[in-house]
Amino acid sequence: MSADLVPESRAYRHITCGSETVVGGQSFEVVSNPMSSMEQTKCSMCNAMFPISDYVWADTDENLSDYYARHTTTATDLQRLLCSKKMMVGLVAVSALAAAAGVYVLVANDDLFTRTICLLGGLMIGAFIGATLFLHVFANPITRKVCGVRDTRLLR
Ligand SMILES: [Zn+2]
Repeated sequence: MSADLVPESRAYRHITCGSETVVGGQSFEVVSNPMSSMEQTKCSMCNAMFPISDYVWADTDENLSDYYARHTTTATDLQRLLCSKKMMVGLVAVSALAAAAGVYVLVANDDLFTRTICLLGGLMIGAFIGATLFLHVFANPITRKVCGVRDTRLLR
């Protein structure tokens, strides 16, 4: 048994139409993550998004919303907040604005073109830093702690 081997994909079944959708890569990381605050996911047969509770894992028959609830019972409100989309959007926005403001100070006396380019660059770099901070300082470590695994794709 190589329990540490992270699976590459997993299938869920859309209860309404009965067909299975295989998720892999980043979609699998997000769907398997009970702290990702996913509300909807895609059925490849219907080619549309439906609420999480409309699906079961094909291998265990467990409803996805039950799976999320079962793996997050120990999460505190603060941990849920720190892993939420709101937190990510907030951190990205604050970080983008802070970086842009910081860069703007350096080029405040330059021409409009330089200032615009530097502002946009500052926003992008700041947003990237915010997203990285969110993942590596909040979402990933908290999710590992709450779910008890190093990768949520290992959860069953
Ligand atoms: Zn379907």
